[in-house]
Amino acid sequence: MERFKAAAERSAVMKPFVHRVSDRKDLLQACWQFTGALPGWKGYINTYDGYVHSANALRGVYRAARSNGVRFFLGEKVGAVEEVVYENTSRGRRSTGVRTKDGRVHPASLVVVAVGAAAHKILPELGTNVSAKSWSVAHVRLTDDETAALRGIPVVYARDLGFFFEPDQKTNLLKLCPMGGGYVNTDPASGVSKAPEGVNRFVPYEDELKMKELLRQTLPHLADRPLVEKSLCWFADTDDSDFIIDYVPKTSSSVMVMTGDSGHGFKMFPIVGRWVRDLLNASGGQQPIKRWRWREPKPVNGETSQDADVSWRVGDIRELRDLSEHPMKAKL
Ligand SMILES: Cc1cc2nc3c(=O)[nH]c(=O)nc-3n(C[C@H](O)[C@H](O)[C@H](O)COP(=O)(O)OP(=O)(O)OC[C@H]3O[C@@H](n4cnc5c(N)ncnc54)[C@H](O)[C@@H]3O)c2cc1C
Repeated sequence: MERFKAAAERSAVMKPFVHRVSDRKDLLQACWQFTGALPGWKGYINTYDGYVHSANALRGVYRAARSNGVRFFLGEKVGAVEEVVYENTSRGRRSTGVRTKDGRVHPASLVVVAVGAAAHKILPELGTNVSAKSWSVAHVRLTDDETAALRGIPVVYARDLGFFFEPDQKTNLLKLCPMGGGYVNTDPASGVSKAPEGVNRFVPYEDELKMKELLRQTLPHLADRPLVEKSLCWFADTDDSDFIIDYVPKTSSSVMVMTGDSGHGFKMFPIVGRWVRDLLNASGGQQPIKRWRWREPKPVNGETSQDADVSWRVGDIRELRDLSEHPMKAKL
């Protein structure tokens, strides 16, 4: 926590907005809506930071891109890429485009793969470079008045319990995420964790307990409400939490990959496109930022995931197959 605080304070712009919170009084100063006991809560508040409505941000970019002539192919068949199509040339393999689930081939001189945790499906050569991992997400349904009362609250992040932020004004849903080490789905044949097909519409029982405890300590009037719209949310983890933004080897620079968001990529949304442009313009076609270059995947020995500990997370990594939404079935 001190390390995060110090990082924020290294920015001259941000420093004046970073304040320590040491007791309940300080916390109520930051968020008057707390009615819980906040037992032992201390940390810092950074009022420079805040919350962005990701779906609306995506909608905004979609509209702007469309009005600039970008064509979108959306939907489960028309928009789902099955594979990158290659041809063999005298200089080696080269992509000619992509094939979607409806069988259509979209010709392209450059394919940029940016499909989050699903990257292995399209680029199996990623191997252990990326590990599909997930956290739980669930919601509490509020009334109009309850939503209004929580408008503008700070993002509240308790290391051992999880986080929440202001509810969605349109849906009246308060989103909760318990965080932790994350859940993997290791493919025994390759030893690589790959995102499962479809959506996992449940959260493990222990996460449900964490989210309820988070509410009990902060907004106890919501702690006994049913959790709704539960799911596991998948992201693409790398060992060092750095992106991979590079050409895929042995594709004659015809395929670029952007992956490795490591569960903290959305905050880069306003600037992420620039990184593709920079790579396209880079001299010699080499990624100028060393830590974002393609790494050679490590060999694997099957069955167990090859994940390293991620320094900014607390908690164990567990396999999807060991999880249960019921207390008796959960393998703890
Ligand atoms: C619970 C949770 C909390 C998070 N909290 C934060 C946070 O507080 N701050 C933050 O910055 N980040 C956060 N993140 C991380 C953030 O959501 C990701 O970093 C970000 O969404 C990654 O963007 P992406 O475009 O790489 O992948 P995604 O957002 O996963 O997008 C990939 C897209 O590709 C599509 N796709 C997949 N396969 C195919 C295919 N075959 N063909 C066509 N399309 C395909 C998917 O449908 C999806 O639309 C969180 C993640 C989780 C799971």
